[in-house]
Amino acid sequence: MYYFYMDAPETLLQAITMFSDPQRAFEAAVEFRWPGGNVTCPRCNQAKHSFVKTRRLWFCYVCKKQFTVKVGTVMEDSPIGLDKWMTAIWMLANCKNGISSYELGKVLGVRQNSAWFMLHRIRKAMQESGDIKFGGPEGGPVEVDETYVGGDAKNKHKKAPLKATPDYWFARERKIGLKTGRGTDKVPVFGMLDREARRVRAKVVPNVKREVLMDAILNTVQPKGTIYSDSFPAYASLPEKEFVHEAVNHLKEYVRGEIHTNGIDNFWSLLKRTLKGTYVSVEPFHLGAYVDEQVFRFNNRATKDNKLNDKDRFAFLMTQVEGKRLTYAELTGKGTDSLHQQTAGTGPEDEIF
Ligand SMILES: [Zn+2]
Repeated sequence: MYYFYMDAPETLLQAITMFSDPQRAFEAAVEFRWPGGNVTCPRCNQAKHSFVKTRRLWFCYVCKKQFTVKVGTVMEDSPIGLDKWMTAIWMLANCKNGISSYELGKVLGVRQNSAWFMLHRIRKAMQESGDIKFGGPEGGPVEVDETYVGGDAKNKHKKAPLKATPDYWFARERKIGLKTGRGTDKVPVFGMLDREARRVRAKVVPNVKREVLMDAILNTVQPKGTIYSDSFPAYASLPEKEFVHEAVNHLKEYVRGEIHTNGIDNFWSLLKRTLKGTYVSVEPFHLGAYVDEQVFRFNNRATKDNKLNDKDRFAFLMTQVEGKRLTYAELTGKGTDSLHQQTAGTGPEDEIF
């Protein structure tokens, strides 16, 4: 599933140098998208086109329309150049604790709200399909666990000053997902780790009730698989669903032989470190995207048997930008009636990206 490109940059400096040359950036983007130069129209999938070299775009004879290398990817409709896009993709794929829109804006020389939108679109590309199930009778054990993230305890106090981080204010300005008007509620996240495949799947859940967690497990783990958890009562019905279930009671023990949840716990600490250190106050509405980002880096980290490096992670992410889109309206909730009313005509929403 991994693609290796001789030409992909190994360091951030190389990425910046390589992609600052518009022709090289263009050629790299084309090669990632259409390996071997097999360019097809993103609208009709046909290869009947002519290339307009001076403008680096194609004209499709079937659709009678032009297309660029960005059309049909997360970069569609963005006036920001490939040099900046690919540098941003390199950074989000490889910065262990993510990168804030404030930092990225400074690095690329773009406005912070443009950087914020770029980062969210790259997170969209990082989203995994979840087609392949974990565990099963032949597979390894799957650790499951739920946690709560966000909602700094200090912010719970009414008089305490709110943390004025860029991502926080961005979301706040847009009045998105503010449940209590403070936007600092903790949000439950459910995670599963396939020990043999060394992969995680995690997502924001509405609550940690039995049916919600069971649903997530049934969608992710193959029947008859082995599941390890703590003694949270929601997991008690796993044997009824034909899973082999072993639990550790954290009041008494954390590890009983092979039975523990240390792998998924490790993922939670990485996620929380990123959220606390880089993004600080993430709105519940957007949290899922930050979870996707962390899952991407975790699932594509170097392991003993899979020696991935920064170049590989970047190259892989570049192959994931196609077929995914995230519009500004989807991201900000603009278009849904009440939210739209609150913010219409004011704020950074009206700026053109
Ligand atoms: Zn076409």
